[in-house]
Amino acid sequence: MLQPADYHMHTPLCRHASGEPVEYARQAASLGLLQIGFSDHSPMERDDFDEWRMRMDQLDEYVAKVQIARQAVPGLKIRLALEVDYLPGQEAWIRNLASRHPWDYLIGSVHYITDTWDVDNPAKISQWRQHEAHVVWKMYFERLAQAADSGLFDIIGHADLPKKFGIRPVMDCRPLYEPFLKAAALRGCAVELNTAGLRKDCREIYPSRELLEMARGHGVNITFGSDAHQPSEVGMNFVEARDLALSVGYTHWLEFQGRRATPQAL
Ligand code: ZN
Ligand code: FE
Ligand code: FE
Ligand code: ZN
Repeated sequence: MLQPADYHMHTPLCRHASGEPVEYARQAASLGLLQIGFSDHSPMERDDFDEWRMRMDQLDEYVAKVQIARQAVPGLKIRLALEVDYLPGQEAWIRNLASRHPWDYLIGSVHYITDTWDVDNPAKISQWRQHEAHVVWKMYFERLAQAADSGLFDIIGHADLPKKFGIRPVMDCRPLYEPFLKAAALRGCAVELNTAGLRKDCREIYPSRELLEMARGHGVNITFGSDAHQPSEVGMNFVEARDLALSVGYTHWLEFQGRRATPQAL
């Protein structure tokens, strides 16, 4: 059985992943994947913004490393992409990044729900004691809707990231998902099934079945990603992810090349 492309993987340039792109590519080929894409954490306009992304002067090196992997594993289609942090006000910077290389796709991710709190950062887990879960989710999904509506991204990354540590609101979250999914449908922005959630305290793919069912209802397309930060994580739990997509009624995933999407059968 053919697995969909793994479109979410990192490189050591982001300072919290290990293994060269060549090693990720070899792992993918050994698993029988036909296509992968690198989507490392994009630089910010200011390199001192945080500690978990490449610096601006490493962007060309990143592209070169992906090129080396392409040459080393010629049987594998390797896409060139970025996981871009969406923060309101950063639109011009993101357009600047988008113009610098021939990206195959851009994943838009919300990690920062304020200018200083990246909700998935274990070092800032104490923040959760000062904020009610439903407030965090409301802030997060408002930003995620803005990210989708910006038209800057082909794919939205890990669409319910705040569940990472297993802290969840007790209320019905569906009204929070609705504006995000409307924007994604309007802008033709896909959501990814990100299997990294299975390796976190939430023990669940991002997004939840509930959110994915709603996405399907809105006609939002999907991609797949392991969010690998080491070669052994490439393609992890893709059987479960594909089964989840099929069980929700999806029949296709989107292939990207040069920021154009082509549906491929699941
Ligand atoms: Zn990362
Ligand atoms: Fe991320
Ligand atoms: Fe990632
Ligand atoms: Zn990520």
